[in-house]
Amino acid sequence: MPSSESPRPRIVWFRRDLRLEDQPAWSAATRSGAPVLALHVLDPVALGGAGPLRRDLLFGHLASLDDDLRARGGGLLVRHGDPAEVVPSVAAAIDADGVEFDLDVSPYARRRDRAVVEALRAAGRHVGTHWGNLLHPPGAVISPSSGRTHRVFTPFHKVWAATPAEPWPEATAATLVDPAGLPGAAPDPLPRPHSTPVMAPGADAAAERLGDWLARVDHYPERRDLPADDAGTSHLSADLRWGTLSPRRVAEVVGTTTPGRAAFVRQLAWRDWYAHLLWEEPRLGRHALKPEMDRVTWRDDPDGLAAWAEGRTGYPIVDAGMRQLAATGWMHNRVRMITASFLVKDLLIDWRLGEAHFRELLVDYEPSQNVGNWQWVAGTGPDAAPYFRIFNPVAQGRKFDPDGEYVKRWVPELASLDRRALHAPWELGPLELAAAGVVLGDTYPAPVVDHAAARERTLAAYAAAREGDG
Ligand SMILES: Cc1cc2nc3c(=O)[nH]c(=O)nc-3n(C[C@H](O)[C@H](O)[C@H](O)COP(=O)(O)OP(=O)(O)OC[C@H]3O[C@@H](n4cnc5c(N)ncnc54)[C@H](O)[C@@H]3O)c2cc1C
Repeated sequence: MPSSESPRPRIVWFRRDLRLEDQPAWSAATRSGAPVLALHVLDPVALGGAGPLRRDLLFGHLASLDDDLRARGGGLLVRHGDPAEVVPSVAAAIDADGVEFDLDVSPYARRRDRAVVEALRAAGRHVGTHWGNLLHPPGAVISPSSGRTHRVFTPFHKVWAATPAEPWPEATAATLVDPAGLPGAAPDPLPRPHSTPVMAPGADAAAERLGDWLARVDHYPERRDLPADDAGTSHLSADLRWGTLSPRRVAEVVGTTTPGRAAFVRQLAWRDWYAHLLWEEPRLGRHALKPEMDRVTWRDDPDGLAAWAEGRTGYPIVDAGMRQLAATGWMHNRVRMITASFLVKDLLIDWRLGEAHFRELLVDYEPSQNVGNWQWVAGTGPDAAPYFRIFNPVAQGRKFDPDGEYVKRWVPELASLDRRALHAPWELGPLELAAAGVVLGDTYPAPVVDHAAARERTLAAYAAAREGDG
């Protein structure tokens, strides 16, 4: 415990804001004049659902944050456990005067944060909460007519774009507390990634990714929907998710001076929108926004679910996407829509099961974004695609992967087929298939479902739900 003359330290509880620039909780602590201790709690509940690729990326980011803090004379105190116990107990062990942290929107995060705040306040400590992971905090972009978050994106975006950002004060130089020397709060060892993270970790690497994107962003409108084009989108989602990039800095640096830049910044508004909606409607995480859509009678089909998850549905663009996800922890947005639609509308499997699979595997997984997008695809959420608009996976493949380059990359067993046949191999006869080395049901699966029949089945199930007899 520090002596009575030394100022009491202020803790920054790092969560999804793993950077020191443009980070409001960090700024507030450094500006308090107190020595600053950086803390991260490895929460078994939050980590339990994360696959190895997301964990390794997090561990890489933590090591990098620790390096950045050490370069400034401090370090990252990492503790394992329930944050509701760990944060107050670290604060007590070092007699911190308070804790600063950036808020989050998921129901789990909110319950956890309430427990932490209550314990800290009960001990008479200052609590500073901030919003460092969104451009605008929930509640800042409101429909003038309803007084709440718009249920349709376009008007939300209009108000969002016209809303001035609340200022985030700059951090100042501060004395940092080195966790190695803390009596009573010894750090747990920093977790090590089991394998090389899928991208270079840390805020400096993220800043480089943003810099690289600036050279390509003007082509965003023409290239963003082509999954074979690795350079067509920014790949910044995981940096935004972990906070190695500040969303506000990203929007500022990119700007809206060209159509490509404006289209890209508009996507950041989707991110805020889904976060604001989940904050306002916590039930969205488990329930359809449209209550009648919770009455859809989903099929219980473990084999179909496994075929989808493992990339062996017999629909090449779907299988390519699911294999990309498993191998890299990321999937192109167009293909996220196609694969999600296939699960819900072709297999008639509950969107929550697909959401759970993405939750495990995505390195950019965020509860609000994943749930919001799944509900959008399922036609159950806000501003959702109408339930009767059902993606045809073959037409989508031919349109957005016209040369079959993406499918060939992830489904190499079809690589010898020509570009049209590649998206619907069952349209060829056995001899033509054999000439390309393909035997359906052997070297590549036969389709698990007939799209046209599945479409009718889904329309009937949704219609029944809407009429109240789902
Ligand atoms: C079923 C489904 C599940 C999804 N789950 C997630 C998720 O868990 N986490 C996540 O970050 N994104 C999710 N998305 C949205 C989107 O697919 C990814 O953000 C995008 O593919 C990330 O690639 P990028 O950074 O290259 O995107 P870019 O096209 O470069 O877009 C820039 C940024 O805008 C934001 N953005 C883009 N599209 C969307 C969108 N549809 N909704 C919300 N924000 C968007 C992201 O932060 C993204 O990094 C999901 C989409 C679908 C259809």
